[in-house]
Amino acid sequence: MRSIYDLNLKQMEEMLAGYGQKPYRAKQIFAWLYRKRVSDFSEMTDLPQSLIEKIRQDYSMEPVHEIARQTARDGTVKYLFEMKDGASVEAVLMHFHFGDSLCVSSQIGCNMGCTFCASGLLKKQRDLTAAEMTGEVLYVQKELDRIGGRVDNIVIMGTGEPFDNYDNVMRFCEIINSDHGLAIGARHITISTCGIVPRINDFAKGHYQYNLAVSLHASNDELRRQLMPIDRAWPLDVLMDALKNYSQDNHRRLTFEYILLSGVNDSDAHAKELADLIRGMNAYINLIPYNQVDENGYRSVDEKKALHFYDVLMKHGVKATLRSRHGDDIDAACGQLRAKHERNKDSQ
Ligand code: SAH
Repeated sequence: MRSIYDLNLKQMEEMLAGYGQKPYRAKQIFAWLYRKRVSDFSEMTDLPQSLIEKIRQDYSMEPVHEIARQTARDGTVKYLFEMKDGASVEAVLMHFHFGDSLCVSSQIGCNMGCTFCASGLLKKQRDLTAAEMTGEVLYVQKELDRIGGRVDNIVIMGTGEPFDNYDNVMRFCEIINSDHGLAIGARHITISTCGIVPRINDFAKGHYQYNLAVSLHASNDELRRQLMPIDRAWPLDVLMDALKNYSQDNHRRLTFEYILLSGVNDSDAHAKELADLIRGMNAYINLIPYNQVDENGYRSVDEKKALHFYDVLMKHGVKATLRSRHGDDIDAACGQLRAKHERNKDSQ
C-alpha cells in the first residue's frame, strides 16, 4: 500500500479528485501531516469520516522506526531507522550556529563504489521512496518539537546517490519544501552528487532553487578514478562542462566537496591543480575532514595540513571553507553505524 507521505501537493489533489473531493482538502491534509504532525488519520478532525475511511483503504501512514542511535559529545545524533521491509538507513542531526541540519539517506546501500566511503560496503538494495526520506525528517522534527526545535537545513548526503534515485529525491524535496507543510526553504536543501552528468543536466533544466553540491575529491582523472569509479563514466571535463552550464543557466553557486586524505590528494600540487580546475566558476570548495573507516586504509590529514591546503587554494584565487568536525567520537561517516549494526546482527 502506498504511503500518504509519498504524495506531493499536486498528487494529493489528484487523489482527492478521485474521491470526488475539492482540491483545498489537500492543503488540509498537508497541514495535518506536516504542521500538526499527527500520527493517525483519525486525528484529522476537519475531514469527513467517510473521506478518512476511503483514504485509509488506499494509503498507509506509517512512520519510520528508530532501532539505534549514537549521541556525540558535541550533540550530533546519528539515527538508524528501520523501514517497513526491515531495511535500515542512517540520518545524522548536526547543530550549527546557523541552525540544525539533518543529513538524510536516499538509498539502502549504494552502488557508486567510492573507495573511501563506508556506504559502499553494502551494495544498493533499493531506492528509498519519497515517503521514507520524508519519514526521516518527520521523525527528527517530532523529536525536536519537544524542545521547541526545528530542522532548519536538509542535506542529502547520507547513504546513497540521490541522482541515482532522481524522481523520488526530487519529490521528497518538493514535499518538505511545500509552504503548506514543513516549509523548509529551497535554499536550505542541499543535494550532493558524485557526478551523474545526465541527471545534473536534468536538474539544470528544472531550474530548481535547491543547492547543488558535487563530490570532487580529486583534481585529475587519474586520481579521481582510483577514488570514485563514476569518473570512468563521466570524466572531469564532461562533469565540469555540465556544471558550468548549470551554474550559468541558473545563476547558482556550486559547492565542491573535497575530502582531504593523507598522502593521497593533499599536496600543494593538488591544491594548485584544484584551483586551476575551479577558477572562474561561481563555486567554492568545501574541505571536509575525513571520518576514518575501519575497512579501508585511508587516513585524515591533521588540522595544520588542512589549513595549509586551504591557504594554498586561497592564494590561487579560489574560495574554500574548512568544515568543522562533527560527531568525531561516534560512527558519523555515511554507512558506518549501519555497517556496524549489520555486522553485530550477523555475529549474533
Ligand atoms: N552520493 C552522494 C551523497 C552521499 S556522500 C555524493 O557522493 O555526493 C556525501 C559526502 O560525504 C560526499 O562528498 C562523500 O564523498 C563524503 N564522504 C563519504 N565518506 C566519507 C567519510 N568517511 N568521511 C568524510 N566524508 C565522506
